[in-house]
Amino acid sequence: MNAQQEQHGQKRFSAYEIALHNFDRAAKIAGVESDLAELIKTTDRELRVQLPVCMDDGSLKVFIGYRVQHNNARGPYKGGIRYHHEVDLDEVRALAALMTWKTAVVGVPFGGAKGGITVDPRDLTIAELERLTRVFTNMIDPVIGANEDIPAPDVNTNAQTMSWMMDEHSKRHGFTPAIVTGKPIDLGGSFGREEATGRGVVIILREAAKTFEIDLQSAKVAIQGFGNVGSHTARFLSELGVRVVAVSDVSGGVYHSQGIDVNAAMEYVKGNKTLAGLPDSEAITNEELLEMECDVLVPAALGGQIRRDNAPRVRARMIVEGANEPLTSEADEILEGKGTIVVPDILANAGGVTVSYFEWVQNLQQFRWELDHVNRELEKVMVRSFEEVVCQSQHHHVPLRIGAYLLAIERVARAARLRGV
Ligand code: NAD
Repeated sequence: MNAQQEQHGQKRFSAYEIALHNFDRAAKIAGVESDLAELIKTTDRELRVQLPVCMDDGSLKVFIGYRVQHNNARGPYKGGIRYHHEVDLDEVRALAALMTWKTAVVGVPFGGAKGGITVDPRDLTIAELERLTRVFTNMIDPVIGANEDIPAPDVNTNAQTMSWMMDEHSKRHGFTPAIVTGKPIDLGGSFGREEATGRGVVIILREAAKTFEIDLQSAKVAIQGFGNVGSHTARFLSELGVRVVAVSDVSGGVYHSQGIDVNAAMEYVKGNKTLAGLPDSEAITNEELLEMECDVLVPAALGGQIRRDNAPRVRARMIVEGANEPLTSEADEILEGKGTIVVPDILANAGGVTVSYFEWVQNLQQFRWELDHVNRELEKVMVRSFEEVVCQSQHHHVPLRIGAYLLAIERVARAARLRGV
């Protein structure tokens, strides 16, 4: 059991078991042969590395990191790097598998991978974080490469982390911006990458609201998590004139019945690090946010936030998964029973990897796209993918999640078959 499961005192499916559960349900419907299903569902390679770091006070600390490569039938492995004290092999494995299905859902020519380090980055200085990132990059060097496996940011990592990774890799291999995505613009990053996941979440939310007849102009939206994904999702929604009534971060949530001033909240977090004490808002807990009366709920923090114990109290008509695996399988079943529309992670938050693909293409071509071009291409990919997922879901009479898995599994299985085993 990981810490999150222990905290709720129940033996539950692990993060990886949840990913397998969804895969098995869809693979059966897709009619994938059992040997091929076995081949594409299990991870290709799992690397665990020891990371000795010299701390600022001269002491030595040893951290553990992982890079899991799930599948590369459709292209090089692709996936973020997470720094969090709860990172373990099971979680990284699950997130790597999700990347395989996510890249396939949006049709970008990548496979799936994920990496992480078990560390609370708040305990380290910037210099220590840089050394940790450089050691990690060197330790996973044998398995990454611009045509092999391309990391990106995830929870608690950002454009600066990617700069250090690119620099360390370039020392051995020559200047290689395409080794990572999510870089700063000055180092070959793409316009629009930083906010791409949030922009994609909002495109999907907008399309889903149209399809399921939710009037966004009168809707109330609650967002858990106010980092990269949550804050940009909130910003784009408020730009569309949608009322974001609650947002939260690790310190708790804030609520305003007429809508949070999202730009002011983003400015406040820049100066104060957290949302706690945001003026013109009422403090609420993360639990209250998840269970509040609203039309759309966007979990955009960590996995396992909606579980068997709190799912019956979730009142949103629609959940759009900004985070990866924010629902456990049991929560999924409970919400399916209640008729809640759940727009799955592998579709809803795929805007990030889509623009990561655009960044990689720009790096390989040594050519920069304008922001408008990036956003137009992102819009096309997200809308098309949404329609394809809805089509699968309606055709097979299954929830959107299984529709998305069906689309992805068929694409990965087809590529694996064509390449030969
Ligand atoms: P981030 O580190 O920028 O932000 C995480 C946010 O969650 C922060 O506001 C943090 O305070 C909050 N948080 C952390 N623990 C919490 C808790 N226990 N309760 C409530 N809030 C908590 O991370 P991010 O990049 O925004 O990623 C968020 C989620 O979206 C993750 O599941 C990640 O895998 C997924 N995701 C990210 C991207 C991307 O491009 N960054 C792409 C796809 C999916």
